[in-house]
Amino acid sequence: MEEKPIEKLATNELNDIKKVIAVMSGKGGVGKSSVTSLLAVNFSKSGNKVGILDADITGPSIPKMFGIKDKPENSEFGIYPVKTSKLGIEIMSLNLLLAKEDDPVIWRGPLIAGAVRQFWTDVIWGNLDYLFIDLPPGTGDAPLTVMQQIPLNGLIVVSSPQDLAIMVVKKAVKMAEKLNIPILGLIENMSYVICPECGKKIEIFGEGKTQEAAQKMDIPFLGSIPIDAALSRLCDTGRIEDFENEDVEKIISYLKIHQVN
Ligand code: ADP
Repeated sequence: MEEKPIEKLATNELNDIKKVIAVMSGKGGVGKSSVTSLLAVNFSKSGNKVGILDADITGPSIPKMFGIKDKPENSEFGIYPVKTSKLGIEIMSLNLLLAKEDDPVIWRGPLIAGAVRQFWTDVIWGNLDYLFIDLPPGTGDAPLTVMQQIPLNGLIVVSSPQDLAIMVVKKAVKMAEKLNIPILGLIENMSYVICPECGKKIEIFGEGKTQEAAQKMDIPFLGSIPIDAALSRLCDTGRIEDFENEDVEKIISYLKIHQVN
């Protein structure tokens, strides 16, 4: 028997969102949320209206990276995202709805999937050129819900160059392919460090592994981002909007030319 395709959900009728791009990773800690934020920041800096839907419900880190403290406002038509202070990026995250930001979210899959759906159906995003969705790591309920029910224009996969991270990326890519989500490409994060003393590039986990994996999976390789103490410092202090990096800019240029315009 053929399975019936699951219908895509309509977003709030006050929204006009041109492109929806989800960011996923095979496993946690590879910098998926940081990369999502950097994509949003750079698209915003080049004149686009941008939002981030934080679907990483049990580990939401987006508000902290942008230093957001305000609570979302409610109206009879839905709930408003909170704007970041510098660029006015629209953010919605479960962390913004918790009484205390360090309260744990002890929910099972269906409840989490429900919250993610509501961030799409009930949030008043308004007019956006790009909505980035920060998915939880892996191939569980929440990524599945987003891929099945939110009309995505594309998916970006983030990995670090360790073999283990790359192995789980392959699972994530297969899942996206099964669900007919266009894969925009793979970004390698934490690729190398620049020695602060001599300026030498050190590839801690080895060279070119992610690029090779992208070739094998037949998906575009979008570029590499180094381990940079400034990035982690700015994330920790809520100032990711101040981070500037040539590698990230190259990735954005590539995306603009090849995929998402
Ligand atoms: P994930 O979403 O994959 O779990 P995060 O984006 O939350 O990962 O990143 C995990 C930690 O690593 C954060 O503290 C972040 O600041 C740091 N981090 C991510 N990418 C980099 C990088 N390229 N250089 C330095 N620190 C990074």
